[in-house]
Amino acid sequence: MKIICIGRNYAEHIRELNNEIPDEPVIFIKPDSALLRNNAPFFIPEFSNDVHYEVELVIKINKLGKHIPIQFARDYYSEIALGIDFTARDIQSKLKEKGLPWEKAKGFDHSAVISKFLPLEQFGFAPKESIKTLNFSLQKNNVVAQQGNTDFMINNIDEIISHVSQYFTLKIGDYIFTGTPAGVGPVTPGDHLTGFIESTEMFSFQVY
Ligand code: ZN
Repeated sequence: MKIICIGRNYAEHIRELNNEIPDEPVIFIKPDSALLRNNAPFFIPEFSNDVHYEVELVIKINKLGKHIPIQFARDYYSEIALGIDFTARDIQSKLKEKGLPWEKAKGFDHSAVISKFLPLEQFGFAPKESIKTLNFSLQKNNVVAQQGNTDFMINNIDEIISHVSQYFTLKIGDYIFTGTPAGVGPVTPGDHLTGFIESTEMFSFQVY
């Protein structure tokens, strides 16, 4: 199982970090040891003083595929979850300055929070209908921190699946984080994070 993540997929988030809009999707991978499930608490690692939340929609691959055309991408997923791509922003900034890979900042233990998965039908999509206009949000201590809508993705989910599969064979059970909207920010011990897709609560957990 692998966890594929898309960076810089919402223009407002690209602006808040002073990055450039990429010509093609930015891809990085987290190891399976990054997973954090079932509302387990998140412990801020001691090597960072600036761990940020990034709320993202997560797709689970349900069919083996490679070189998937965009028009068939919808056949490769049927469920959606909400996740957090925890990022050690201080470490990432140093690595970016030097042009080095991001893994230490993005792939550390428990940096990939994933909620339960729900079928897309539950959010009103027909069995083969691609995802459009899906709202999701993150609350920190009961205050809205991030609000996203798939309409504002630079590359939509089907385009992401097609692009990623040109480089990486997608296997059943792989996860794809699809990028974060604006509003990323730090977590501190004692914070409580709750995520929603539309009005459905997807996760709720404590930060220590
Ligand atoms: Zn992210």
